[in-house]
Amino acid sequence: MERTLVILKPSAIAREHAGEIISRFEKKGLKIIGIKMMQLHEDILREHYAHLVDRPFFPSLLNSMMALPVIVIGIEGVEAVTVVRQMTDATNSRKALPGTIRGDFGMSGQENIIHASDSVENAEIELKRFFADGELFDYPTKKFLYSPDEA
Ligand code: UDP
Ligand code: MG
Repeated sequence: MERTLVILKPSAIAREHAGEIISRFEKKGLKIIGIKMMQLHEDILREHYAHLVDRPFFPSLLNSMMALPVIVIGIEGVEAVTVVRQMTDATNSRKALPGTIRGDFGMSGQENIIHASDSVENAEIELKRFFADGELFDYPTKKFLYSPDEA
């Protein structure tokens, strides 16, 4: 089973879409293995967005991510990283397809509602960044979600 990290960004919290977005993951059959609200600060964001610190929009991204508390979610499922990225879609919400989270909930490239890990390797690093030991849980999966050979 793969695990991935989703962050409901301040844009999702401000616009009160948290419940609907969490509901999408549940309906899909992805398992929530950890969830909490937290206020992000510059240090953790410089780590999390290390690939972007030199970009001109980085100060604006920092402000955006610190503007309100966020909700961090650990999600588990077969190929969960790819499935969640597909449900998220393009960075620019205006280019994201209808039916996807960014496509349905936003109009912005920066205020794009959620973060989703982009690889299995990064997902494990990011889960450790945002969740302490004991904050991610293991519990039984409902029947009829996977065939025996898939799960
Ligand atoms: N971002 C931005 N302007 C850009 C590119 C990215 O403000 O031109 C922000 C946006 O909020 C995005 C985040 O930086 O979600 C991380 O960028 P990345 O390229 O990793 O996109 P993502 O993986 O979130 O689709
Ligand atoms: Mg990214």
